[in-house]
Amino acid sequence: MAINKSLFIEKFEEKFWNTIERFKLVKRNERIGVALSGGKDSSTVLYLLSQRFKDRMIAISIDEGTGEYRRATISNAQRLTRMLGVEHRVYSFKETYGYTLPGIIELFKKNNDNTKPCTICGILRRALLNDAAIELGLDVLAVGHSLEDEAQSILMSIFKGNPEFLQRLGPRSDKVKGFVPRIKPLYLHSEKEVLTYALLQDLVDKSLTASCPFSSLAYRNTARKALNLLERNDKEVKKKIVESFLLLKSHIERQPREINRCKRCGSPTSGEYCSRCKILMKIEKFVNK
Ligand SMILES: [Zn+2]
Repeated sequence: MAINKSLFIEKFEEKFWNTIERFKLVKRNERIGVALSGGKDSSTVLYLLSQRFKDRMIAISIDEGTGEYRRATISNAQRLTRMLGVEHRVYSFKETYGYTLPGIIELFKKNNDNTKPCTICGILRRALLNDAAIELGLDVLAVGHSLEDEAQSILMSIFKGNPEFLQRLGPRSDKVKGFVPRIKPLYLHSEKEVLTYALLQDLVDKSLTASCPFSSLAYRNTARKALNLLERNDKEVKKKIVESFLLLKSHIERQPREINRCKRCGSPTSGEYCSRCKILMKIEKFVNK
């Protein structure tokens, strides 16, 4: 068992560094932010990146105010960053937006707005991470997305009839002014591999492997179930989806991207207002009603 364990760790890490090399995820002297939730995926990314890039890394955690679940993951993030000697910053929804995520969800519900919690959270969290990365002068933001996450995102953009969303996917996002490119070093690792690695290396304990209390409501869950069903007949299906996407991606990128500026905050957006401002404007409307 001991030999299997060290072999697994060796293979896992080899794939991690190969992914970084294959997709040129980290360029010379780039300063790296790690979006650190404190769960298994981002803790693994932090741990491995710190072995080579510790002196040019900052970990960023977002506290959405989702109670016990987030308190436990943030305290794990603090434990890890202290142990590894990586600078750590925490930004909260409450301080930035005036409300916690449950507070915002309640406000939306009261006003019969059925935007899904994960949509609200995802938009507000991504924008806050991006602001933080810009404020801290970081060149890229490393996220814990695994092969499953990417395969789900690819399917979701097709299921939703939203193929332009594909442009934003991939192991390293494009450079668009106002957005810090995101890199995904676990792009080719399965969720199960990451979980095994994180537990073997003591990066998380078992209680932290649960997902966010709101995640069962996510559309992503439907894509997850569909993929798991397909996987019963074909173990490689997730990998095939991602590899097919990578082949197509070079063609998709040739399409010019129209970028406007949000009328409210100036962020790049395809419409009049960015998605964060659309949510914040609803909050203002609901509060002043
Ligand atoms: Zn905006």
